[in-house]
Amino acid sequence: MALSKLASLYRAVILDHSSHPHHSGTLNGTTPLEMNNPTCGDVIRLFLHINDDGIIEDISFDGRGCAISTASASMMSDVVLGKTVTKALKLSEKFSQLVQGEEVEKTEEMLGDAAFLNGVSKFPQRIKCATLAWNALKKAVVLNEENDQGE
Ligand code: ZN
Repeated sequence: MALSKLASLYRAVILDHSSHPHHSGTLNGTTPLEMNNPTCGDVIRLFLHINDDGIIEDISFDGRGCAISTASASMMSDVVLGKTVTKALKLSEKFSQLVQGEEVEKTEEMLGDAAFLNGVSKFPQRIKCATLAWNALKKAVVLNEENDQGE
């Protein structure tokens, strides 16, 4: 595939997620985790429902952000839904390596459409846009575990 064609395919996937984000909205009965990226002005509120087996049973997000942050939140939600929190944290780690330009194996298999964001590594100021949703996920999972221990 010609390089320019590949680039436009990547752009198309990212634009599709940002204009029609999957799992956008709120979840009743869950407290959202809010996080922002002051560099760009992106804000995300992430809603997670983790069941007793540690599986992400439901996920949604709202807020406002640039195309990359919204697309990334949509892709992240697709990927981690139905996974264990342990697996989700691992994927978050992989994603952060990917957008920082590190070699990551089997990106599409593990990260789904989020693998299309690897080009962000060439734009350091956009890395925070791409990782915002994934960092919110990490923080939400940690908080959830702390709450569980408190019960
Ligand atoms: Zn942004």
